[in-house]
Amino acid sequence: MHIEETLRLDFKDVLIRPKRSTLTSRSQVELAREFVFRHSRKTYHGIPIIAANMDSTGTIEMAHALEGHQLSVALHKHYDVDTLVAYFSSLEKKSTAFYSMGITQSDFEKFTTVMTRAHNAIEYVCIDVANGYTETFIHFVKKVRDTYPHLTIMAGNVVTGDITEELILAGADIVKVGIGPGSVCTTRKMTGVGYPQLSAIIECADAAHGLGGQICADGGCVVPGDLAKAFGGGADFIMLGGMLAGHDECAGDLVERDGQQFKRFYGMSSRAAMDKYAGGVAKYRASEGKEVLIPYRGPVDASLQDILGGVRSACTYVGAHKLKELTKRTTFIRVTQQLNEVFG
Ligand code: 5GP
Repeated sequence: MHIEETLRLDFKDVLIRPKRSTLTSRSQVELAREFVFRHSRKTYHGIPIIAANMDSTGTIEMAHALEGHQLSVALHKHYDVDTLVAYFSSLEKKSTAFYSMGITQSDFEKFTTVMTRAHNAIEYVCIDVANGYTETFIHFVKKVRDTYPHLTIMAGNVVTGDITEELILAGADIVKVGIGPGSVCTTRKMTGVGYPQLSAIIECADAAHGLGGQICADGGCVVPGDLAKAFGGGADFIMLGGMLAGHDECAGDLVERDGQQFKRFYGMSSRAAMDKYAGGVAKYRASEGKEVLIPYRGPVDASLQDILGGVRSACTYVGAHKLKELTKRTTFIRVTQQLNEVFG
């Protein structure tokens, strides 16, 4: 047994120190970024925020709503082949939507079928598993890279620098970072495994950037300031589940309780998801996600304005004209209190 004494931090443990700035308005801040990926050599241009590939948020409706704002979606894994082919082949210009897959042979075959039938229109894939530390996972990433040299591959999830490097060397362009921070995740409770998300971002970004790779911070953002901290800590992309849940573009019907409207939102490893897609929770495992009711929030546009407005404002506080400059202009200060909660 070994104990690491160095304190690791979460979003709630820090604030960003303001810095002298020449910016006079938030509208002067450019949130779009450009990346050239290490393996695919493709150029990305957009606001690097991605709706999570959960079946409520990773929808085609969400993709259409976010495209207009230059944001991306990772479509969930449960769409059938015909729907995916229709979506990817309908795109006039190549989209930044991610095709999501697990690591079984049938996941690989389904992807190959969709890719062929959609005439190679898929540019981005997200290969994700709860635990990105297995050899099987790394071999799978390598296999997809060898088969599709020009595909931009995001792979995860992991939380440490060593495995981030290994994944990039195996063929990942973007490493997805986060074990246990998610809003409907119970992994830390069920297994005791995890890593404070801000430190995971800082450490993995450092490792990835050293090799010319990128990272996507996945999970744990609950307010726009958390996105500013994630970008400030070095995240190139951010994936959001809970913050985008409860909107019209999310899957699922409205539920009424005591005259108020809600939408269901559940973890992809929750009992609710396993009942829906896997015929229940298998005997050898436990659910690692939960289900919640989110107050209905209407169209996603208004929430996006809040999120992007918050990040833009953070940039003005530290004098970053572009999102790209936020990391080098960020100094975190450790705090014991974030907010004045006097009015709840
Ligand atoms: P959020 O933005 O809601 O805090 O986090 C979203 C992320 O939580 C997803 O992108 C995914 O990585 C993670 N997640 C989604 N469902 C589950 C689940 O059932 N269990 C766990 N451990 N993580 C989940």
